[in-house]
Amino acid sequence: MTHLPNSLQGRDITYLLHPVTNARAHERTGPLVITRGEGVHVFDDSGKDYIEGLAGLWSVALGFSEKRLVEAAIRQLHQLPYMHLFASKGHEPSILLAEKLVQMTPKGLDRVHFTNSGSEANDTVIKMVWFYNNAIGRPEKKKFIGRIKGYHGITIAAGSLTGIPANHKGFDLPLDFARHVSTPHYWRFGHEGETEDQYSDRLAAELEEMILTEGPDTVAAFIGEPLMGAGGVIVPPRGYWPKIQAVCRKYDVLIVADEVINGFGRTGKMFACETYGIEPDILVLSKQITSSYQPLAAVVFSDAIYQGIADGSETLGTFGHGYTTSGHPVATAVGLECISIIEERDLVSNAARMGRILREGLARYKDHPMVGEVRGEGLIAAVEFVSDKATKAGFQPVGLAAQAVMAACQHHGLILRVSGEAVCFCPPLIITEDEIRELLHRFDLAMTDAFAQIA
Ligand code: PLP
Repeated sequence: MTHLPNSLQGRDITYLLHPVTNARAHERTGPLVITRGEGVHVFDDSGKDYIEGLAGLWSVALGFSEKRLVEAAIRQLHQLPYMHLFASKGHEPSILLAEKLVQMTPKGLDRVHFTNSGSEANDTVIKMVWFYNNAIGRPEKKKFIGRIKGYHGITIAAGSLTGIPANHKGFDLPLDFARHVSTPHYWRFGHEGETEDQYSDRLAAELEEMILTEGPDTVAAFIGEPLMGAGGVIVPPRGYWPKIQAVCRKYDVLIVADEVINGFGRTGKMFACETYGIEPDILVLSKQITSSYQPLAAVVFSDAIYQGIADGSETLGTFGHGYTTSGHPVATAVGLECISIIEERDLVSNAARMGRILREGLARYKDHPMVGEVRGEGLIAAVEFVSDKATKAGFQPVGLAAQAVMAACQHHGLILRVSGEAVCFCPPLIITEDEIRELLHRFDLAMTDAFAQIA
């Protein structure tokens, strides 16, 4: 596709390097330029409307035109546009949001530290845990165990926790403190005749073996998304989390629940830890915390970790970690307003209800010859394609069908995201039944087109 050099597309191709994009392919196609949003819809520069079926990047809980969030940002910009939290400074929105997060998150989480992004939050978790273990006299306990296909961000340390090859290749990652155990995906990796519970037992045994091989005195933490998002919306098998948790407790390994996508209602409960019975030591939140109207993330953690860090900040020296914009007042003011709206409108129940309709609608593709699995929880779902239903083999090149479906969806006015052989759904929490039905209709048109083209 050629673009005029002075068009937005032409200037984009000339000046930008896009995140998570094949740069050469992008030079050939140019960007889809989005100019405005309304509810669950966004519009491109030709005026064409799309349902944002992934809520931006799994994040725009309240849709693309929530005036109360805009007003909260403007009020705060007028009142106090910037203040930091370094060296004992404070400001109202960060204090109130920290209090609110402690009150609303599962019990045992008592303190909050703010960052700007999920990646920074996970980087911060690593540094907090290292500082804590140094402070309490176990300096060897530093390794983190994540999972293959887990996604925890892209900074050098958080990117090492991520278990997706595309985020490692060419970047000399992962660093040596990170280990990865198997993806908990029963449909793809469960053995013939193995029940879901037996599969979970096998994964818990694998984790225990890894901890023993590495040496329990060297393993600090296990990190996982309760439900994997970017790796392809992978719902944990029955019994998985309680069994993983028991192994972690046995070896004094901290549990980090990365709810950057899951948090604030996505799985049909306020937090996915409630959905799967997880009692984390550390909870990581971002994305829906502000509906992504402002960059913000939060690390919410136990009193025990706080006490260790607080002692260490006297014995080792100041807790020397933080960003210029950690707990930015505009971001935390928007976060407070966003959480109020989620609660007032009971959007968690809406996510559970709309999610059921979405997943029932997608279930009709289970018998499609090229659909391997339809899966999801709450208002997050995926359809995974196979070239052979019996062997579950994917396509060559990987993602061929999913990419074709995604492109056809875009043609029919639906934005989705591809992960491997799967297309992922994660619409705004505000979506209505009519809008879900319209989303399913556009998806159906796209499936027909894409498979006519592949066949
Ligand atoms: N953790 C999870 C579970 C995520 O899904 C993401 C982003 O998608 C991150 C961390 C990283 O967040 P960010 O892109 O804000 O750095």
